[in-house]
Amino acid sequence: MDNVRVRFAPSPTGYLHIGGLRTALYNYLFARQNKGNFILRIEDTDQTRFVEGAIENLINSLLWAGISYDEGVFIENGKIVEKGEFGPYIQSKRLDIYQKYVDELIEKGHAYYCFCTKERLDKVREEQKISGQIPRYDGFCRNIPLEEAKERIKKGEEYVVRLKLPLNRDINFYDMVRGHITINTSDMDDQVLLKSDGFPTYHLAVVVDDHLMGITHIVRGEEWLPSTPKHIYLYEAFGWEKPTYVHLPTVLNKDRKKLSKRQGDVSVEDFRNKGYLPEALVNYLALVGWSPEDNQEIMSLEEMVEKFSFERVSKTGGIFDIDKLNWINSHYIRTSSTERIRELAIPYLINENLIDEKFAKENEYWLDCLVDTLKENLNTIAEIPQKSMFIFAEQIDIDKDLFDQHLNNDNTPILMNAIIEEIQNIDNFNIDEAKTFMKKIQQKTGIKGKNLFMPTRVALTGSEHGPELVNILFLLGKDKIINRARNVLKIYSGII
Ligand code: GLU
Repeated sequence: MDNVRVRFAPSPTGYLHIGGLRTALYNYLFARQNKGNFILRIEDTDQTRFVEGAIENLINSLLWAGISYDEGVFIENGKIVEKGEFGPYIQSKRLDIYQKYVDELIEKGHAYYCFCTKERLDKVREEQKISGQIPRYDGFCRNIPLEEAKERIKKGEEYVVRLKLPLNRDINFYDMVRGHITINTSDMDDQVLLKSDGFPTYHLAVVVDDHLMGITHIVRGEEWLPSTPKHIYLYEAFGWEKPTYVHLPTVLNKDRKKLSKRQGDVSVEDFRNKGYLPEALVNYLALVGWSPEDNQEIMSLEEMVEKFSFERVSKTGGIFDIDKLNWINSHYIRTSSTERIRELAIPYLINENLIDEKFAKENEYWLDCLVDTLKENLNTIAEIPQKSMFIFAEQIDIDKDLFDQHLNNDNTPILMNAIIEEIQNIDNFNIDEAKTFMKKIQQKTGIKGKNLFMPTRVALTGSEHGPELVNILFLLGKDKIINRARNVLKIYSGII
């Protein structure tokens, strides 16, 4: 395809919804597949929703997820900058542009000034509701002569500008996911295009910008589908070529409702903080509403670029399935380098006061060993502190049944005393010492095999399962091994 230009156009609401990340991702995949351009535009015309730091948050979330773009709004050296020939890319900087196009529509008779007060509009809406009609603007100001309207504005009357839809006309368009769509203007509203504060509404700004920025494909969430006929009419009113539309199914929760912030985590940042890897979240989101022809599930961005197609985007909403996300995340954790997981784990361990920065710097090998023992069985990085408590805890609980099964026998005092004595003779209990330690205990006590390893494991970890005993010994270190062995002796002799 020639010169594909697509855009992601979020409003800076303060966070990037994972549904938004998926929209950005599909735009990205389509742009890269077609060697086109991907643009980030900020749609901040609703000044009542202004949130400090929201643009930075959006960009950082995209960067974290690995979704790169070519044009638009970026952060450089901590500052918001814009790059590309079609700027500004932040809508609040384009007010004069919108004004010019609103004036053009008014002159051509496709828009009109409306002086209706909020009170009047509320009253009309109320009456329409009571008589069972769909509430919409009743066209009160549609036919005010332009000169008269301009006079009223000069006198200081407040106004908005509305789209003047033709009466009873079918608006047709084609959506790559939804197919052909027809809506009659009698089912549409004379949409406000310019608000009384001089800011355009989304509907005007989006059409003007998509046209001026040369956007070829509009890929966005299906919540915008009902607005599209208005946009189509605007393209026609301006005499502009229409882009191709692709409306993506909504990301739903298990109750088939839109995934909303009220129910919990929906922002990219939330998932990052919960210990999801960016490639896992992106890989998972790609599959919410799309699947490749070969049904491959684990895919790198490059593979997705190759396989992606709008034809295979589903019409119905994709259900957000946390179990599947966990499965994909655990795959990426397992296949990541130990160093990477260690670096990601450190803030979580510090946060739980299990280690401090100094410890992290001085004990890389120890931390790698810890990560290696856990890596195979993690859903998220955030699970690391809790899953490593059996190492960090001063003392562990041993279930009574487990104790009876493995430690309530004559070998226990021999084994525990041998462990305590042997380890007390070792000054620096490093990994090499840990590797030969059980051999020494075997020689010292004559206890071997299952009778040696299982009771030791249960005594030291409180569990029959878990990582290699050598790793456990090394991770626990001398003091904890002695303490835990002494504790077992106490339980054995009925002291506790
Ligand atoms: N600013 C809109 C949003 O927040 C963008 C809609 C569109 O892509 O046209 O989702």
